[in-house]
Amino acid sequence: MATEKTEIILATRNHGKIAEFRSLFKGMYIKLLSFYDLSGIPPVVEDGKTFQENAAKKAKAIAKATGRIAVADDSGLEIACLNGVPGVRSARFAGERATDRDNARKVLKMLDGVPWAERTARFVCVICAATPKGKTVSAEGYCSGTISFEMRGSHGFGYDSVFIPDGFQMTMAEMEPEMKNRISHRADAMQKFRKVLKEFVEKEKK
Ligand code: IMP
Repeated sequence: MATEKTEIILATRNHGKIAEFRSLFKGMYIKLLSFYDLSGIPPVVEDGKTFQENAAKKAKAIAKATGRIAVADDSGLEIACLNGVPGVRSARFAGERATDRDNARKVLKMLDGVPWAERTARFVCVICAATPKGKTVSAEGYCSGTISFEMRGSHGFGYDSVFIPDGFQMTMAEMEPEMKNRISHRADAMQKFRKVLKEFVEKEKK
């Protein structure tokens, strides 16, 4: 007997993310749809104080609007000596229209004169699934490292050019993308999420 695949909406238009999630869900009897497959998706304002709040808000709103399980993520950089800043403001740290370079430059400026040992930071990623009725499940991933003294490398995006992961001497922007994708906060969150999502979907089917 053929079992129907569960349709899940991924709350993004980012092609890189769609591809990453597609490979994560491989073999899971899930049909992944994105915003490109549906119309009338409402915009969601990311005004939460935590990555968890933002990811859950997006997933819940999209699940409610589409009547299907929705998956959303939120991520960013936390710098220890700045009490977790830029955190949920990572994308807009240097202003609403800031570029990745503007944001990275601002981080370097704020850490001017701070010694290596005090430049510790981590990338955080939260992935959340929600049902149309508002039940949620989520997973959190991390990648710890140190903020470099200058921008280096041309791969990646965001703060990759100023982030040196623990155990490496190069910035994330100097790494081959395959290497980054193995050690990243998103990879960590995805591995954990795959496990909890399986159970969540099974329960929804009953
Ligand atoms: P988003 O929630 O995935 O859209 O990420 C928000 C912001 O966090 C991005 O605009 C980047 O500034 C930063 N960020 C998230 N993940 C990464 C990463 O893997 N490398 C560098 N910056 C990142």
